[in-house]
This record gives sequence, C-alpha cells and structure tokens, in this order.
Amino acid sequence: MNALKTLPKVDKCLTHTLFEGCNATLVMKIARIKIEALRQALLNKEIESFDEEALMHEIKKAYDALFEPSLKPLINATGVILHTNMGRSLISKTLLDRASDVICNYSNLEYNLELGSRGERYEHVSTHLKELLGVEDVLVVNNNASAVFLILNTFAKNQEVVVSRGELVEIGGSFRIPEVMKQSGAILNEVGATNKTKITDYESAINENTAMLMKVHQSNFSIEGFSEAVAYEDLKQLATQNNLLDYYDLGSGYVPKLPYNLGNREHSLSEILTCNPSLISFSGDKLFGSVQAGIIAGCADLIAKLKKNQLLRMLRVDKITLSLLEESIKAYLAEEYEQIPTLWLLFRSVEELAQRALHVKESVGENACEIVESETYMGGGTLPNRRFPTIALHVKGKAMVLERKFRENYVIGRIENDHFLLDFRTILPNVEEKLSEIIKRIVGN
Ligand SMILES: *Cc1c(COP(=O)(O)O)cnc(C)c1O
Repeated sequence: MNALKTLPKVDKCLTHTLFEGCNATLVMKIARIKIEALRQALLNKEIESFDEEALMHEIKKAYDALFEPSLKPLINATGVILHTNMGRSLISKTLLDRASDVICNYSNLEYNLELGSRGERYEHVSTHLKELLGVEDVLVVNNNASAVFLILNTFAKNQEVVVSRGELVEIGGSFRIPEVMKQSGAILNEVGATNKTKITDYESAINENTAMLMKVHQSNFSIEGFSEAVAYEDLKQLATQNNLLDYYDLGSGYVPKLPYNLGNREHSLSEILTCNPSLISFSGDKLFGSVQAGIIAGCADLIAKLKKNQLLRMLRVDKITLSLLEESIKAYLAEEYEQIPTLWLLFRSVEELAQRALHVKESVGENACEIVESETYMGGGTLPNRRFPTIALHVKGKAMVLERKFRENYVIGRIENDHFLLDFRTILPNVEEKLSEIIKRIVGN
C-alpha cells in the first residue's frame, strides 16, 4: 500500500527537467495513462514498487515517439526505379523549389487575373500539357485509377465496355479493371482469350448497348508477338465505324523519343497519339516522372463532358499537384531531362554507375565489397519483362543478416543468388557519402 501513496501527481512530471520545452498538455495526457497503469499494477499486486525516475523516462519515451516521423527518406538500392512501395517517382529539388513560389503563396489557382473573377483550376497545366502532347484538350485528376473511373462513369454508365481478356490486369494487388468498371457503373464485356484477341472478337461483341472499346496497357506482364500501335489503330477504326468511343488506359506515359530507346515494349506517347485516340489516360508518377496524378488527354468535346461530371469534384487535384506537374511539363518542353529524376536514373550509363560504385568501394576499404554487373527492372507496372543493365556493390557477408542491418539504417538493397547487393541504378549521387558511412559501420563490426 505504501507504494500506492508514493505515486506522483500528474503535474509533478511537468517540473522534471526531462520535459523542458515539451507540450504540457500532451505530457500530462501521457503521464495520466502511465500513472494509472502503474496504480492498477500495484493494486493487482503485479508489482510491489516502482522507480519514479524510470517512470519519467517512460513518459518521455512515449512523448518522443509521437514526434518520430512516420514517413522517412530511404536509400533505394534495389535498382527498381519506379518502386511502388517507395513512393514511385522522385521530384527534383529544383522543380520543388520552382513550384514552392505557388505552393507557399496565394495564387490564381481559381482566379482569373484578366477578369478579376472566378477562374478555372484546370486551365493551369492544360496549355503546357496540350503543347507537350499535341492533343486537343487535357484534364488532370488525382491518379490514373480516378481517371479510369471518371471516364467509364461519364461515358459508359449502364452501358457495355468491350475489353480484351488479355488486358484485365491487376496492378499492385489493389487496382483491378473489372472491379473499377463495376463500381463506375459500366458493364464489362470481355472478349477473346488471355493470349489472343482478334479484331473480329471486338466486332462480334458490339451490340446496341455498347458505349466504348477500351484498351488497357498490360502493365504487369507481357504477351509476345503483336504490335500494340497497329492493334490500337484497328480498335480506333472499328470504334469509329460503329459510332463508339475508343479509350486507351496506358498506365504509364513515356515522353522522350531520345536519348533512350525502350525497345518495342513501351511506346512513347507521341507514337500512341499518332493513332488519334479519342481518350487516353496515364499516371503522373510512373515513367512520366512527376507527382501522383491521372492525366487524361484527347478530344475537346469529351474532355468538356468529363468536366461536367459531378464526380470530378471528388477527384480534383490540389495546387501542390498542379504546380509540381506544371514544372515537370515545362522541364519536358525545355528537354531538361535531368529535372525528371525517373528519366535521369534510367539514362545513366553502366560505365558511369561503375565509376560511382568504384568510388564507394574504395572509400569503404577494398575487401568489404566487390563490383558486380547485374540486371534490374523498371518496376511500377511499366516495361514488363524488360531488363536494364546495372552495376551493384556486393557487400560480403550473410545476405539475410546484411539485408536486415541495412534496412535498419534505412537502406533497402536486394538479394540475388544469396548475395546482398546495393544497386547503383537507383542510388542518388548525393547519398553516396552517407551510404559509405553506413557500409563502414555495418561491415566494420
Ligand atoms: C498503374 C496503372 C493504373 C493505376 O494508376 P494509378 O496512377 O496508380 O492510380 C491503371 N491502369 C494501368 C494500366 C496502370 O498501369
């Protein structure tokens, strides 16, 4: 019973030096809970005494935990550039800085400066984006999933949309075309087989309740042997002949033709746009390399109808998105590819990566690591099966143990053939010194 009487009062905690400069309300709230738990433990005879100083430290620990950042910067040494679990595309500091003028000030987000009255939020990126893509009109929503949803809901509610069975993809375990379609009110009409769908399959599926022919990019897998561009051209032609809409959900949007050839697996936006699709949509943060957004492009009359859908209000983007997106688009127009980190990482030559890996290897001591040539994937549901040459540092030691130790230091590597690798395809030059320190710390003991 004695111990119970010595339990400190809640406000006594505040006088302890540990809590100098802390939010008093928050400290008292935590202290109340901790002291009450202690009282119960004493009453139930689970414990017989307690240490007041230890209690104070426990309260401080709980207090500090509230300020521990949940989102932490990581060193991505997996080699996967568009890592869905690590935030997909990076934003360059330069672009963030340019955009901050708008983000940190009042802006003409919805204010028409010429008329001095209400303006249009979506006008801002549209001029730049129309120029970049060479399309009639554009619309930006929260992500590509919202773009798909808005398009289906606007043009195919209670009507049929014809899609090839080979394209009913699931992306990252959460985005399933058939599910999205159902929620949007559109009726899915699947045609063909998983590995082969002919234009005649689409043709025989068309009936009086058909609204749209839709093509979905096979983001997570690839089926060999036919040219997408031609297939879309045929689809478009069939749609036009039958007075139907054609829509291509691209998933990823790749702008440059040069200097990097992605092979025939990923067409650049300009190639796809030569077929004059009625509507396309793609993610802002896949190969396009900008913020999370869904970019819709196509015929002006269709975009106008999308803007009239009340749902748009729920999918609308913030000024942070719009201003960063505008900066990315301007960087594209100026061909400042170094400001699009996704492309910058993709364009690095193996020789350059090898040189940087050598530099890190030398700085940590000759015997800790060795340089290996390897291959990596793009990730993020783009360029399925397409491998990229890369250079990695093989950190010698037990792979599983090293993987955990590096992860504890916020470095995520990958294990290949029982070797722990740090892949330089995704290691940014400005973290190399920090990485060297971490390697030294881990392999040095
Ligand atoms: C990634 C992807 C989506 C979803 O895009 P988010 O921007 O992640 O919402 C939709 N369709 C396809 C084909 C995709 O590859």
